[in-house]
Amino acid sequence: MTNKAPTPVDMGKIVSLCQRRGFIFQSSEIYGGLSSCWDYGPLGVELKQNIKEAWWRAVVHQRDDIVGLDTSILMHPTIWKASGHLEGFSDPLIECKNCHLRYRSDEVKEVQCPSCGGEFTEPRLFNLMFKTFMGPIEEEANTVHLRPETAQGIFVNFQNVLNTTRKRLPFGIAQTGKAFRNEITTGNFIFRSREFEQMEIEFFVKPGTDEEWFKYWLEERLNWYIRLGIKKENLRLRQHTNKELAHYARACSDVEFSFPMGWAELEGIANRGNFDLTQHASSSGKDLSYFDEETKEHIIPYVIEPSAGVDRSVLAFLCDAHTEESDREETRVLLRLHPSLAPIKAAVLPLSRREPLVKMAKEIHTDLRQSWMVQYDDAQSIGRRYRRQDEIGTPLCVTIDFQSLEDKQVTIRDRDSMNQIRVPIAELKSTLETKLAGEPFLVLPLGGKVLKGLENKR
Ligand code: ATP
Repeated sequence: MTNKAPTPVDMGKIVSLCQRRGFIFQSSEIYGGLSSCWDYGPLGVELKQNIKEAWWRAVVHQRDDIVGLDTSILMHPTIWKASGHLEGFSDPLIECKNCHLRYRSDEVKEVQCPSCGGEFTEPRLFNLMFKTFMGPIEEEANTVHLRPETAQGIFVNFQNVLNTTRKRLPFGIAQTGKAFRNEITTGNFIFRSREFEQMEIEFFVKPGTDEEWFKYWLEERLNWYIRLGIKKENLRLRQHTNKELAHYARACSDVEFSFPMGWAELEGIANRGNFDLTQHASSSGKDLSYFDEETKEHIIPYVIEPSAGVDRSVLAFLCDAHTEESDREETRVLLRLHPSLAPIKAAVLPLSRREPLVKMAKEIHTDLRQSWMVQYDDAQSIGRRYRRQDEIGTPLCVTIDFQSLEDKQVTIRDRDSMNQIRVPIAELKSTLETKLAGEPFLVLPLGGKVLKGLENKR
């Protein structure tokens, strides 16, 4: 797919919004920060959770052919030998002899250190896995690694899942979880960090059907992002060249997003053949084959691996949703997040802090929070409260005004169009449900009346 990306949003704006509104903070900030580690704030944790849930629903709950798994971060050290990570999971590094800054030699084009002009050492391989020790004695024999990907936990449980679920090929195993890589060049906010989360599927298929399934997963994964609102022109598939392919990979393509710094990988989809199961079978001495009832043969399945980054998805959804619109004299900033991803689904806003308005609003809030993540807010003017909710991506605001006390109706305001409709409180929940499911916001007449206090408020 070759498409032109629109002008991307400025990363500075995203970082500043994330800090100001409580999406993402620098890790250990009060101690000066820990580079390339990030903490998700009250809104960020909701967004991240919603992304993982949307993925889990799409790949596990809504399918018959994929089951879930949650494996431990620390695993038997031999796993990393068998998988090739101990030997091969490394970047070539050069170090400045003067200021000792290190760079990836494939990324630096200069012959001298860009920072101080010093001379470089010869490139050396640097393993990206974090080491730690298991048990009370710090010695090499007790070394374990923090997993650099969640995938290996799936491969080593292949037989467990097969035996306990009696799944037949083709079937997949999905898992989300933390991964750690001692990256040399980090940066671009949460795009490349040393601790991050992955959402991975290992989809096992009969050899010979792998190419077809590979194509299927390219489409399926690309469409997942589109279904959740990412603009088509901000996404593309990029096929790896033969030089880029890992030695075991039969094919690999990336889903790329047009990030502020340019097109970059959001998710990698690889046809890994039978490399992993073969390696673990020979390394563990266990039989990891599958008995094919049709041919009465034992086979080692091939695997297609769609491997996505949770943090990169958070960044992509934020960048794609970020919008600035001129609204009268000011600029309205909003996040056009898909309702299923928005941290807060609806805000309940009494027009004034006076009773009995507040009491009514709080009752509505209590009722709605049984079903959704809903926020109550009675501080500041209604206009400013609307803007605040726009900026954090809340799709709907429910406003309770003095007339609500009489006619038992409230106003629902839509984030994107700023249109308003008035609904009876008895129908509020069902209306929100339809709106949050993505139904367009039809403007119903407000009965000809401009509601007191809501004049001019958009
Ligand atoms: P890159 O080429 O950008 O380093 P990769 O090809 O090494 O990425 P994979 O090993 O394919 O990445 O990992 C699968 C997914 O995990 C990536 O598509 C990305 O979304 C995520 N990921 C990998 N490394 C990082 C990182 N350091 N920080 C955040 N997310 C990451």
